[in-house]
Amino acid sequence: MNLEKFERYPLTFGPTPIEHLPRMTEALGGKVQIYAKRDDCNSGLAMGGNKLRKLEYIVPDAIASNADTLVSIGGVQSNHTRMVAAVAAKLGMKCRLVQEAWVPHEDAVYDRVGNILMTRLMGADSRLVDEGFDIGIRQSWEDAMQEVRDAGGKPYGIPAGASVHKYGGLGYVGFAEEVRAQEAAMGIKFDYIVVCVVTGSTQAGMIVGFAADDRADKVIGIDASATPEQTREQVREIVDNTAELVELGRKVRDDEIVILEDYAYPAYGVPSQETNEAIRFAARTEAMITDPVYEGKSMQGMMDLVKKGYFPEGSKVLYAHLGGAPALNGYSYTYRNG
Ligand code: PLP
Repeated sequence: MNLEKFERYPLTFGPTPIEHLPRMTEALGGKVQIYAKRDDCNSGLAMGGNKLRKLEYIVPDAIASNADTLVSIGGVQSNHTRMVAAVAAKLGMKCRLVQEAWVPHEDAVYDRVGNILMTRLMGADSRLVDEGFDIGIRQSWEDAMQEVRDAGGKPYGIPAGASVHKYGGLGYVGFAEEVRAQEAAMGIKFDYIVVCVVTGSTQAGMIVGFAADDRADKVIGIDASATPEQTREQVREIVDNTAELVELGRKVRDDEIVILEDYAYPAYGVPSQETNEAIRFAARTEAMITDPVYEGKSMQGMMDLVKKGYFPEGSKVLYAHLGGAPALNGYSYTYRNG
């Protein structure tokens, strides 16, 4: 594998901590040891999260293109667009964002708090568009790029989740390399990695990274898109592109791409009762804050898998915490009683 040949623009503090979660381990029966890798605490840029690992490999290309405006897309409470706004501010670039109506919501303040509040504070030109959820390339995003050009600017496009970008998968190849180094330092080895998957490049990068020591199939993706076929196709595409970029030297097999579809219900961005129980559980056992869109669902999935005996007794499971807590502010009604 050859990740070093790609330029990386540092946006994070460096390797993220791995911590053991003893109270969660105990509350889930004590037969499987639970750890978390805290990519939610990875940066001082606007509360950080998984997108920064991806953007570290995309920013050099944006700078080389001489663009003056980063253009991206997400839902109203998108963590990704918050991170693009942060990077633009940090680089001294402009930022044009399309924020689509991906999630039905009841909170009166949904479009004024959390991610979008921080996005606005950082000076991004964020515009709300009335389109539903879709992880693919959108017309509204193409239109925003054209508007920047028409106004005399030079846009650099970053697709939803920084995923379907030629370098979108590289950041999480780096995650796998980081885990291997941490395992060596800790004197342990993780048997499984649990990760939330929606636009795909987080898991795809991990799959390529862990394929290098033949454990890609131990990366358990928990779908939170509720459109799993599209997510699976996107992961496949990013895996193939990324494997070629880093010269993995072989094709990743379909059975090495593990995505579980059982936890995304009732819809993207809408927590089920079980999601909410998982969010409360993580908060009450470890003060680890997860959100109703992404990490709450992967937490729900991990808890269910532990309870079902999916992981053999004695396994060490690494939960990848990818961020996302700011969106909780848009769900204050849901949690008004705790
Ligand atoms: N977790 C959080 C907090 C996210 O913001 C995202 C972004 O979509 C994900 C998980 C899913 O990652 P990906 O879109 O790379 O599949």
